[in-house]
Amino acid sequence: MEIVGLPAFRDNYIWLLQSGRFVAAVDPGDEQPVLEYLACSGLELAAILLTHHHPDHTGGVAGLLAQHGVPVFGPAGEVIPQTTVPLHDGDTVELPEIRLSLRVIDVPGHTRGHIAYYGANALFCGDTLFGCGCGRLFEGSAEQMWASLCRLAALPAQTKAYCAHEYTQSNIRFALAVEPENTELKTRAERVAALRDQDRPTVPLTLSEELATNPFLRCREPAVVAAAERRQGGRLSGASEVFAVLREWKNNF
Ligand code: ZN
Ligand code: FE
Repeated sequence: MEIVGLPAFRDNYIWLLQSGRFVAAVDPGDEQPVLEYLACSGLELAAILLTHHHPDHTGGVAGLLAQHGVPVFGPAGEVIPQTTVPLHDGDTVELPEIRLSLRVIDVPGHTRGHIAYYGANALFCGDTLFGCGCGRLFEGSAEQMWASLCRLAALPAQTKAYCAHEYTQSNIRFALAVEPENTELKTRAERVAALRDQDRPTVPLTLSEELATNPFLRCREPAVVAAAERRQGGRLSGASEVFAVLREWKNNF
């Protein structure tokens, strides 16, 4: 299987999973780049996978369905009218055309019903985990998002995470404010700056690198706890409180 990223809008990625002559599209917020890719490559759309209901992830579904009658996999906990296969935590998505099966992981926080897909060493995490960051809490609580991130963090360290936005460089500026002494983070900042200078993507992410540099996965690290407590001006009890302070801090950064 090959995974191709199509840029969309200002900073979205639509991920295409392809094998043989078939393609599955993850979070097609816009149908146009996908239709163009299919036309140029001569490949055939086999399925659409959705992580959550936001328009920059679902806006292209109707336009794709108008030309391709394919199943639409999506979270059972969200209202997305075009969904034909509603998914729950632990479900398996079988995509025989691209010889892939993916496991569904509930990751509420950014939205209430947000799901992620995991399989073949790849994680499609939508707006839950970003490079050196995480999604905003639009519908869920800090406790929920922290628990969701912990579930993703528990996947094998070599997992490649295909998030839906190119936010890594601006997230790193915040991460450096939290952990200015993190040497892996400083190295990553240089590498990411070099990639972005050439307009190259920083995604997919590697989970091991996120564990070492993403402050939102590091809410148990003494340096991160200390930074959050300085920001809060008092003691914090527990990782999800640290997470809540970081998330609020980032919102105002
Ligand atoms: Zn979103
Ligand atoms: Fe988004």
